[in-house]
Amino acid sequence: MKKPKLGQNFLVDDAARYAIVDALGDLSQRTVVEIGPGHGALTDILATRARKLIALELDPSLAAELRFRYREQPHVEVLNGDVLKIDLATLAAEGETLDVIGNLPYYITSDILLHLFSDVNAGKLLRAVLMMQREVADRVAAAPGVRDYGLLSATTQMNARVDNLFTLPPSAFQPPPDVYSSVIRLHFAPRFVELGIDAVGFDAFLKRCFAQKRKTLHNNLRAAGFTPEQLAAAWPREMPAQARAESLALEPMAALYRSLAQTQPA
Ligand code: SAM
Repeated sequence: MKKPKLGQNFLVDDAARYAIVDALGDLSQRTVVEIGPGHGALTDILATRARKLIALELDPSLAAELRFRYREQPHVEVLNGDVLKIDLATLAAEGETLDVIGNLPYYITSDILLHLFSDVNAGKLLRAVLMMQREVADRVAAAPGVRDYGLLSATTQMNARVDNLFTLPPSAFQPPPDVYSSVIRLHFAPRFVELGIDAVGFDAFLKRCFAQKRKTLHNNLRAAGFTPEQLAAAWPREMPAQARAESLALEPMAALYRSLAQTQPA
């Protein structure tokens, strides 16, 4: 089936529309940012519940349609633009945190997640309810040691607690996508301070650790330029020599990062 432009599979299941917005809880005092409002499947409900709603839509004709629909509701603002180019933190008023919601355009799901986790948003985002392809949601929510755990899981779980809420079939959308979809909820709670590490350095370290799924962690770090001597000196005693990054919790990964930070790749 031909893919619709800009990931435009519109939600047409009424119960699902309400279940997704319900997952954000009480919005009467909240400012909500909606990513990709489309024809307004979630927007119509959010407009009745949120104190303020800012909807970010890339497609100019959809943005115009929504601006017209909410023209007499000043608490609803529709911005025409690319969510990846908008600094979300700037949408929050002084001292305010934001909630984020969106049936995401699937072609940029990971980019949107990384955008939400960017440093500039630290402390500005409270919760997010996001729909994405089921397989991606399973990876985001996976625990270490299970098949789906990987770089996206580790990166997400460094930044937020994840609830995998429910799954919808293709028939919930028009046109129906080729895949099932799942809704997740994030509570933003970065762990960098607690684990004694810096965000930028640790993100880069995780990319090296997970570079090749078939390789052990040791071999991935060798490929990243660490010498056997550096690795031997820094390797935590309780960490198996043949461990793979996919099997390790974030605490031992952070411990390894901290001790390797004393040395640099050759
Ligand atoms: N919320 C609507 C619904 O549930 O029916 C539409 C969801 S549809 C899966 C994704 C929406 O994201 C589309 O309206 C699409 O135009 C919009 N979109 C795609 N890329 C975007 C981007 N980079 N920034 C903002 N919106 C985008």
